[in-house]
Amino acid sequence: MTASFPPGRHFVDGALVAPASGRGIDVVDPCSEEVLFQAPNGTAADVDRAVSAASAAQSAWARRVPKDRSDVLHAIADRVAEHAELLATLEAANTGKPFEVARDDVAGTVDSFRFMAGAVRASTSMAAGDYVDEHLSVIQREPLGVIGVVTPWNYPLMMAAWKIAPILAAGNTLVLKPSEHTPITTLKFAELVADLLPAGVVNIVTGYGDVVGDRLSRHPDVQMVALTGSVGSGRAVARNAAEDLKRVHLELGGKAPVVVCADADLAAAASALRTAGYWNSGQECGAGCRVLVHESVADQLVEHLVGEVSTLTVGDPRAGSDVELGPVVSKAHYDRVLGYLHRAQQDGARAAIGGDALDGPGYFIAPTVLVDVPADAEITREEVFGPVVTVETFTDEDEAIRRANAVPYGLAASVWTDDARRSHTLAARLDAGTVWVNSHLVLASELPWGGFKGSGYGRDLSLYALDDYSRTKHIMHNHQNRS
Ligand code: NAD
Repeated sequence: MTASFPPGRHFVDGALVAPASGRGIDVVDPCSEEVLFQAPNGTAADVDRAVSAASAAQSAWARRVPKDRSDVLHAIADRVAEHAELLATLEAANTGKPFEVARDDVAGTVDSFRFMAGAVRASTSMAAGDYVDEHLSVIQREPLGVIGVVTPWNYPLMMAAWKIAPILAAGNTLVLKPSEHTPITTLKFAELVADLLPAGVVNIVTGYGDVVGDRLSRHPDVQMVALTGSVGSGRAVARNAAEDLKRVHLELGGKAPVVVCADADLAAAASALRTAGYWNSGQECGAGCRVLVHESVADQLVEHLVGEVSTLTVGDPRAGSDVELGPVVSKAHYDRVLGYLHRAQQDGARAAIGGDALDGPGYFIAPTVLVDVPADAEITREEVFGPVVTVETFTDEDEAIRRANAVPYGLAASVWTDDARRSHTLAARLDAGTVWVNSHLVLASELPWGGFKGSGYGRDLSLYALDDYSRTKHIMHNHQNRS
């Protein structure tokens, strides 16, 4: 395994380069708590070098016709697919996630590149024509330039792909900083695709957010910063970007409500929550983590849900293919999730199953269902980002919607009902960028992903992402006959 690790180097201007500082960051295996890898501890000087390379490469990359850029994206998809098992193994080792989840991440990575490779060849816009007498208007789509990208630790490779694919498709170049906890697959990706890209088009600088991310969001030659991460990091980036009015693209946290009406198929809802609440150990921004169920069916739903959760297999992914839940990513995050669990139980919530850590080593937390959760409790408002689902009850639809929307987040939500009117009106009233009806956490490359309110702005995936990473220019020709 160690032999397959990427070198502990930044990837700048097409080459693996030593960091300016020579210092490293320990990357820890969350199953064993042992140091797995040393990543370069990037500095502002490393960022500046990478931004120079990205700036130098940008105009030639932008001039390539869509078919050429598309061919490169397809080649990247092929290369990732060829190394899917290696990338999944590295991702599982770094994050502790089960192989099933890691393989799904790699498949999502491949599909992001394939989708954007197709989409960039079929872009549409307003028809060219005369909208003012004797003036021909043409709308052009242009890349923005150099994009600074900052990614989180929950889906390290896939979150990088969700940014890299549309950014490159649209003709931009980029400098990406992976999470300090999970840089391995992003560096490996760069190593694997290095020969497919002109030098400087993709650059990776590892390091901490308040150093590397901070410099990226302040750098005068970076035209946009795209961050997936927490609300706090989003705010920091937006604040910096405001200085020179660079564009900002933010995919932040979530607290997805799952509104279960009295007429819902409760067994189906519980079965879906088994995945939607616990996939990737609940470290998922769209996780169905906050159930609001009609009081008349609450006991039945909890019974189904506890039955489902009791069948989840927790463990080290290397223990076997039946492992469905790994540890959480780091000691700091483990302490944070346990803090939420302990405070919720002190405040009156009851664990119908789980409720605490599992024996170590490793940052394992029992898959948990909390019931009797007081209205407005901390755990119903804040993002826990662990294997924890809370259950609250409501008496009527207005109350359900009011409480579902009364959080600072607005990323995703679901409604469970067999009533056509309800399925439409409740979905329309939920303040979230994605609302599922009788489903939860089903995504596709064609469909936009992104939030409202504190969950940020901008869209990943879909044609909307391609639009976000480009700008429109209106060119108007006066063709009046002057003779
Ligand atoms: P985080 O905000 O701690 O870190 C995300 C990235 O931001 C890391 O690379 C980090 O180094 C960097 N960062 C931290 N401070 C920064 C600063 N001042 N300037 C620039 N960059 C900075 O988030 P995390 O803990 O890695 O990830 C979990 C969070 O990400 C959760 O809130 C989750 O909901 C969110 N998330 C959202 C989506 C989505 O699509 N909306 C997807 C995945 C994760």
